[in-house]
Amino acid sequence: MFPRLIVGILVTIVIVGLVNKFRKRLSASKSEVSSSKAIKCDYCGIYIPIDQIIYRRDKAFCSQGHADKGV
Ligand SMILES: [Zn+2]
Repeated sequence: MFPRLIVGILVTIVIVGLVNKFRKRLSASKSEVSSSKAIKCDYCGIYIPIDQIIYRRDKAFCSQGHADKGV
């Protein structure tokens, strides 16, 4: 009876550890996706969706005005 209790505790610890690892991987992959879809404006530092970015000389800007000021 006593060894069963120990085995049960060990199994619980292992499962909790695996779940925590899996959650960390999920959150890490989510943050990678969001960072790849938004880019920081080189002038004001705001994050803009990749389809709204204005590129000027290999720099990214949130608006035409910041592109003119930032270059
Ligand atoms: Zn800006």
